[in-house]
Amino acid sequence: MRKMFGFFILSAVSCLITSFNKPIDNHKPPKIRTIIIDPGHGGFDPGTHGLISKEKDVALEISLKLGEEIKKEFPDIKIVFTRTTDEMVGGGTTIGEGLHNRAAIANKSRGDLFICIHANSNGHPPGGYYAKRVIGYRKKMEYVGRGKKRKKKLVNAPIYESYWMKNSVVGTASYIWKADRAGFKGQAINEKDENGDGGDEINDSTAVEFDMTSPEAQMRAQLYEKMFFNNSALFATYVQDEFVKSGRESEGVLQRDKGIQVLQATGMPSVLIETGFLTNKEEEEYLNSEKGQAEVVQNILDAFRRYKDTLETSSVNNSNGNGGK
Ligand SMILES: [Zn+2]
Repeated sequence: MRKMFGFFILSAVSCLITSFNKPIDNHKPPKIRTIIIDPGHGGFDPGTHGLISKEKDVALEISLKLGEEIKKEFPDIKIVFTRTTDEMVGGGTTIGEGLHNRAAIANKSRGDLFICIHANSNGHPPGGYYAKRVIGYRKKMEYVGRGKKRKKKLVNAPIYESYWMKNSVVGTASYIWKADRAGFKGQAINEKDENGDGGDEINDSTAVEFDMTSPEAQMRAQLYEKMFFNNSALFATYVQDEFVKSGRESEGVLQRDKGIQVLQATGMPSVLIETGFLTNKEEEEYLNSEKGQAEVVQNILDAFRRYKDTLETSSVNNSNGNGGK
């Protein structure tokens, strides 16, 4: 009995100490408890490729390092990876199945933020390619007209030269699910992609469609718009901001509703980060280097810290949802 009483006192005291440790608000749970990191592609789906690497491998390397760094700085945050090896997520046999598995893992883990890591392609061969250009004209005899009217005529024929065209497109971008909200007060969202004409990854395997006609999908889209759009845009803006600080090119924050349905299928703020172009030789080398990967990871980590601080100091925002509007 006495022992038990002692125990009671002890727990009461430790309770008191704990509550003094968190004097501000100890009954409110922290806003970000779980982060889902989703390395794009995997297994039979390599994504895009450069001269020396495949997107699925670059995405996985950066994702694993990002998870490690977040864990180091925020040991209380749970990190869930959709994949940690070279496989299609959840053993999916199609890309569509893989996307559903990605969303299912995120939702089952009750994530507070979904970070999708990709690398980009501009649709042209990696490194560079031969193109043709006109360097002059020469006179050439040609027959014009038909039948009796057929006659010879001197025409100007172009002289072509084939030349090496370096694949020079570089830069980062963050995609968020398109929502018709004018309320986001942060940095302007790049309007360029409003029509989904950003090219790039929309053509690759990420662009597998979810069925958007089902009532369930419509509800999810509405939920995203109401609850998660602002915070997705906020995190995406910070990510691009940090890339720019490191001297990277940035296409900014882009909205899209095709090809990235996995973002709205996850019931949480979610951002797809294009870490750079594998089709540009130097950017590919950067994304494959220790230094480059460390820098990309640091940029995303810095953006995450700012995002977390913003959410946790905001008095209006009491969930991972609608930021202060
Ligand atoms: Zn991709």
